[in-house]
Amino acid sequence: SYGDLRNATDGFSSSSLIGSGSFGAVFKALLPAQNKVVAVKVLNMQRRGAMKSFMAECESLKDVRHRNLVKLLTACSSIDYQGNQFRALIYEFMPNGSLDMWLHPEEVEEIHRPSRNLTLLERLRIAIDVASVLDYLHVHCHEAIVHCDLKPSNVLLDNDLTAHVSDFGLARILLKLDQEYFLNQLSSAGVRGTIGYAAPEYGLGGQISTHGDVYSFGILVLEMFSGKRPTNEVFGENFTLCSYVKSALPERVLEVADEFILHSGLRIGFPAAKCLTLVFEVGLRCCEESPMSRLAMSEAVKELISIRESFF
Ligand code: ADP
Repeated sequence: SYGDLRNATDGFSSSSLIGSGSFGAVFKALLPAQNKVVAVKVLNMQRRGAMKSFMAECESLKDVRHRNLVKLLTACSSIDYQGNQFRALIYEFMPNGSLDMWLHPEEVEEIHRPSRNLTLLERLRIAIDVASVLDYLHVHCHEAIVHCDLKPSNVLLDNDLTAHVSDFGLARILLKLDQEYFLNQLSSAGVRGTIGYAAPEYGLGGQISTHGDVYSFGILVLEMFSGKRPTNEVFGENFTLCSYVKSALPERVLEVADEFILHSGLRIGFPAAKCLTLVFEVGLRCCEESPMSRLAMSEAVKELISIRESFF
């Protein structure tokens, strides 16, 4: 219960604040009964859409289990002494923060900044983790769960850098009818996601589908290995992260790839440039303009695993 929560520091003070999202703040706290460190997302119920986000998160995560999903331990609501209602979601704590921090350390406050850069193999493993959980959500449940807001800040890393996808506040559950997925009555249209990561059809009022997540995953892969945000201002109106990566394949691939990637552990005779070219090709095939032309997550998992097995 909420009463069982004791803050790891002094009450919910800023010293235990670890992040703030679209609908509220995230705190690090301690569950004294289990002596377990948790992350508590306290939703600002005044914010428009907060209730919907809370319900989407609970609905999406209540029956699913996967090693690469952030574990929602419990959800609770309470009223403070002034009569304000608030709701909180309590998750397993991820000690290595978000992937975003690791990809763009220069933008992170010094105390939260990771001490080193991710290697090529670690990035590949994270991409496989994220692809595996999307494949599970899209296909291996009796319904399909579409995340709708995949981006590096929603990929959290545990002690050994295993990736856990989080933030299901925009997620939608689709029902499977005759091989096609449809929105059920609990869901509604109007999902936007995040600029740069949201599939182009969402901006045009197109249908929510698993293919939308595939697009966001493709962008995430291109960002992970190029070190460039999709919203980077050097990309003009008609020049995107996709065209930037495409224009470099295969000759200038090392130039485009994040210069800070550590290439340790590659098998002799298996150059990093070749590995990166193959990874970028998977990312680009996930970012096809037409939703039906994109790879399925199951195919992306297979291809990324095969690259890892060949090169490391
Ligand atoms: P947003 O709405 O911005 O996508 P969230 O509200 O889900 O993000 O989380 C904001 C930030 O809080 C994350 O980027 C991350 O740094 C931190 N955070 C969220 N959940 C956890 C967790 N379970 N463990 C550790 N840090 C977390």
